[in-house]
Formats: sequence, C-alpha cells, structure tokens
Amino acid sequence: MIRTRFAPGQEPNVLTSISEECGDGMCENCPGIFKRDDYPGESIFCVHECHKKRNQDGDITSDPA
Ligand SMILES: [Zn+2]
Ligand SMILES: [Zn+2]
Repeated sequence: MIRTRFAPGQEPNVLTSISEECGDGMCENCPGIFKRDDYPGESIFCVHECHKKRNQDGDITSDPA
C-alpha cells in the first residue's frame, strides 16, 4: 500500500494497491479503481502489472526483457 501525497490544495490523496480481482488472477474483471472496507470513502487505484502490459487491443503482452 502506497499513499501518494499531492501538494497542499491538490487533494485528495490517492491510494494504490492490488485489487481482489488481480490478486486472484482475474485481471479481466479488475475495474482499475476499487474500494476497500478498511479505507472507507477512498478510491484505490490498482497497480497490478497487468495494467502496464496491456496493449491497445487489451491483450496482455509479455515483457521483452
Ligand atoms: Zn491484474
Ligand atoms: Zn487490477
């Protein structure tokens, strides 16, 4: 869990984590932004690596490295 702070006056803070969907390997069901009971009222951005690897066709591509 990483809390990214904005400069004063540029709230809200943004939480980043991995959604339950991505955690369970069901990346196609991940909404990208989700909620958690332990962070009520906050939107959490899913930062699972699948969101970085999807190309414009929505496929998951392998890392060339
Ligand atoms: Zn994922
Ligand atoms: Zn995700």
